[in-house]
Amino acid sequence: MHCTMTKMFKIALPDGSVKEMPEGSTPADVAAAIGPGLAKAALAAKVDGEVRDIMRPFEGDANLALITSRDEKDALELVRHDYAHVLAEAVQNLFPGTQITFGPATEDGFYYDFAPTAEHGPFTEEELPAIEDEMRRIIAADKALVREVWKREDVRALFEKQGERFKAEWVMELPEGETITMYRTGEGEAAWIDLCRGPHLASTGKLDPQAFKLTRVSGAYWRGDPKNPMLSRIYGTAWLNKKQLDAYLVRLEEAGKRDHRKIGQEMDLFHLQAEAHGSVFWHPNGFVIWRALEAYMRRRIDEAGYQEIKTPQLMDARQWEKSGHWGKYRENMFVVPDEIPSTEEGESVISGHGELMALKPMNCPGHILVFKQGITSYRELPIRFYENGSCHRNEPHGALHGLMRVRQFTQDDAHIFCTDEQFVDEVRDFCRLADRVYRDLGFEKYAIKLALRPDKRAGTDAQWDRAEQELRDAVHAAGFATAEYGWGELPGEGAFYAPKLEWHLTDAIGRTWQVGTIQGDRVMPGLLDAAYVGEDGEKHTPVMLHRAIFGSYERFIGILIEHYAGKFPLWLAPVQAVVATIVSDADAYAGEVAAKLEAAGIRVETDLRNEKINYKVREHSLAKVPLLLVVGKREAEEGTVALRRLGSDEHQKMMSLDEAVAMIAAEAIPPDLQ
Ligand SMILES: [Zn+2]
Ligand SMILES: [Zn+2]
Repeated sequence: MHCTMTKMFKIALPDGSVKEMPEGSTPADVAAAIGPGLAKAALAAKVDGEVRDIMRPFEGDANLALITSRDEKDALELVRHDYAHVLAEAVQNLFPGTQITFGPATEDGFYYDFAPTAEHGPFTEEELPAIEDEMRRIIAADKALVREVWKREDVRALFEKQGERFKAEWVMELPEGETITMYRTGEGEAAWIDLCRGPHLASTGKLDPQAFKLTRVSGAYWRGDPKNPMLSRIYGTAWLNKKQLDAYLVRLEEAGKRDHRKIGQEMDLFHLQAEAHGSVFWHPNGFVIWRALEAYMRRRIDEAGYQEIKTPQLMDARQWEKSGHWGKYRENMFVVPDEIPSTEEGESVISGHGELMALKPMNCPGHILVFKQGITSYRELPIRFYENGSCHRNEPHGALHGLMRVRQFTQDDAHIFCTDEQFVDEVRDFCRLADRVYRDLGFEKYAIKLALRPDKRAGTDAQWDRAEQELRDAVHAAGFATAEYGWGELPGEGAFYAPKLEWHLTDAIGRTWQVGTIQGDRVMPGLLDAAYVGEDGEKHTPVMLHRAIFGSYERFIGILIEHYAGKFPLWLAPVQAVVATIVSDADAYAGEVAAKLEAAGIRVETDLRNEKINYKVREHSLAKVPLLLVVGKREAEEGTVALRRLGSDEHQKMMSLDEAVAMIAAEAIPPDLQ
């Protein structure tokens, strides 16, 4: 008796149940078997952890998780990639002869790089609305997006026939043995086709036609190389629904108004220029903020039992070899020859035979060298070394961004050397210190995340189990392992050699910024032979905690500028008060007012110009001066001032001069001294 049996695959679902599915079935079939609601909501599938098309058949037994719009991160990435294809199809429909290249999803949307015809030239923003309309038409047509496996030569032949020179070139460079897939949008003659790894949604109709917007155009070189032809890039932003899109557009507008580069100019805080790519020129106003933060941080770390040190900018290359930086980090370091000046009379020639040195990219090795001076007993631990450590890291020019991404930066860096037994307490205390600092600086909301072991890592699973558990214990001990503190874990995001805690601040417009970190390190102290003498009289390697609260002064000030939109609390404001006269008769009195404020430690200026008071008010509010003391003839006679606060437009309060000075001085006290 003959019998043909269909092969059955075991498909395990997240709830632990297992479905038997015949060979050839797809995640969409599983969704349909579970229920029509899910069949409609499912956008794609995670098969053994890999995001795939919902229509792609299983290749064997598998673990399956269906992706719906509730899995926002995965769903957004899929949707954005779909939009890129729809954009490319729309452009080719409207502008025949345009060649396609690449179009990935981005952090807030997508882009696609095109080679327009010579007659047309680069795309312009005026053309975007028509392209959007064509995209909506493609979405409304609900065309299927179908994955097909092709032979390399066939792909090349097709693209050559179509005049797609870039795609034909690219397919020949894909690694040998890679499965080459094409995605077809729609069917038959009208189908649009692109070389693409996928995955994609099942059809264009899954996209919300009101949830995207084309935002701008720019030039971009083919494969990012200036020697290659210039392409025309069209950017878009895309979301799961219109509500998300609208919220994003509002956020974008608000972020633009708060841009620290713009406010930095308006308030004369700092500037950047090409002669020092990625290094900041601080102006007097900006450096006032820096100094206030530095002084604040010094008080906080003194109180918390740290000792401040200063270590060299330049250290011998051999030192960086020992710490492992030379091997892993060399391309990010600025290397300097230790040139030997000629001693010949009348010559200023450098011989050039010296050793190589490097500007420090981090402070850790220097701190270990300080720790190693003399013999340390367990009784002296923990030792907490703090440094306002200036570091240099070589970043490509294109990656630099105002104060947020620079090449020279100053960390509020500290390393705590302690015993295994002291580890959890030290981390707990750091959590409390960081909490105080963020609250003092006006961040009401932040999240603490534990970044867990990455796939590629050093050390055994037992070591990682312990290291992760210790950090959990510390956050629990500090009382911060709650939803209120955004406590959560980030699988796979730890450093190569240890897990870490991260602090993510939420700013005034809801953006998050990762700033603080702490991590335990049991590797570097050993590499650099740091040791202490234990109770047993033997040598032991200390644990080293790397920690920072601001991260870097540069970036943190950038975040503060955007968080406050330049309207700093009084203790941080570069100019805290301006005394402005209404009439020149009050000039002498204005000088008296300013002198009293200055004597009380207030950063004050006078404005005696022969201008209308409204003009003066407008100008100082643009410069975001928090307090304006208006004085005229009457105030001078009565010994009073009219006090205006930034943002409270018409409202002003009459006060006696002494009252005003006392109030302002009290308000200007930094939060830790209040
Ligand atoms: Zn694609
Ligand atoms: Zn460090």
